[in-house]
Amino acid sequence: MFDFLIVGAGFAGSVIAERLARVADKKVLIIDRRSHVGGNAYDHYNDDGLLVHRYGPHIFHTNSREVFEYLSQFTEWRQYQHRVLACVDGMLLPIPINLDTINKLYGLNLNSFEVEKFLESKAEKREHLRTSEDVVVSKVGRDLYEKFFRNYTRKQWGLDPSELDASVTARVPTRTNRDDRYFTDTYQAMPKHGFTRMFEQMLDHPNIKVMLNVDYREIERVIPHRELVFTGPVDEYFDFRFGKLPYRSLEFKHETLDREVQQAAPVVNYPNDFLYTRVTEFKYLTGQEHRKTSVVYEFPRAEGDPYYPVPRPENAELYQKYKALAAATKGVHFVGRLATYKYYNMDQVVAQALTTFKKITGERG
Ligand code: FAD
Ligand code: UDP
Repeated sequence: MFDFLIVGAGFAGSVIAERLARVADKKVLIIDRRSHVGGNAYDHYNDDGLLVHRYGPHIFHTNSREVFEYLSQFTEWRQYQHRVLACVDGMLLPIPINLDTINKLYGLNLNSFEVEKFLESKAEKREHLRTSEDVVVSKVGRDLYEKFFRNYTRKQWGLDPSELDASVTARVPTRTNRDDRYFTDTYQAMPKHGFTRMFEQMLDHPNIKVMLNVDYREIERVIPHRELVFTGPVDEYFDFRFGKLPYRSLEFKHETLDREVQQAAPVVNYPNDFLYTRVTEFKYLTGQEHRKTSVVYEFPRAEGDPYYPVPRPENAELYQKYKALAAATKGVHFVGRLATYKYYNMDQVVAQALTTFKKITGERG
């Protein structure tokens, strides 16, 4: 008899498994329907020996010392500051929009103070910042919105920014200085030997058994367990009782090229051209030295594996129904990006899992 059955071996499931096994001395079975641990953060060496992220670029960043120190038990780190260029009007320009973006795009030579005035003169006043359009247009005005955000968002989500919550484009700040880092968090680093190795370290404990290539539905009645932790899509757990919660999917096209470097930055965004949103060159992220290089293209899809919850009011309303049902389901704990329908980064999922662990063990006193 297992104390806990944990469905999903991504961050949510693996953190809880690790804590339950090591700290609470519980017997845990963690399963995944994929052939590997790590969830969407899974990385591996491809046929050419290049370390790649199967499900798109994953860059670790957090302001939480607790989360960083927790993960540091399972990996060493490689310091890494992420940078992204956007291909706009035939130029490669820094995104988040900063001083250099504006000077290069418009052929100007403004300083920080002047660029602030420039943006103020372009910004459209909005009473409430309700949508993803409001957030951007109220900060940088229509032209920059159209060039950098509108089409990228339509492509990525299949929705206009005016149909998405403010929180989506608010992920990307605007700067009037020359800082061209994608994130400004206190801790920014990549696991030195990759994410998968880190997960293997987390799950390496006599109290933890790992079972791959198996769906929860195939074993729920066969494997005795006292409690369940579910990290898959919450609507699927309840057999879509209230209807399907929309999740946005992606198709990843991986490519290895017979040259050392392919592009000018770790990630290049293509807001206005092509069917893909961005191209990532993994060697920048991993620091690997290799004669060849590997890239991935991301093609947004309506159907396929669920990757993103879609933040907009009608989906939040539908999720509230599932949330209430989840709360009323005794002995089952819902954790993670898919199970709590939250557009969370890795560090937020780790924090959520650590909190859930404390709640699970606290409940017993
Ligand atoms: P997941 O990683 O999705 O794990 C859930 C697991 O459950 C999956 O492996 C799934 O196979 C399994 N599962 C589901 N249902 C079942 C079932 N019925 N039976 C068995 N197994 C099941 N975050 C960052 O911090 N930085 C980034 O740079 C970043 N980049 C991203 C890029 C992309 C393209 C995507 C999609 C996400 C990115 N994220 C990033 C977010 C990050 O992937 C998530 O925050 C994190 O991986 C979520 O962990 P999780 O455990 O909640 O979910
Ligand atoms: N976005 C955009 N243009 C860009 C970068 C981002 O319009 O060049 C918008 C888009 O809606 C995207 C959101 O901002 O989905 C969040 O971007 P982020 O890079 O955080 O997305 P993720 O890495 O989670 O896919």
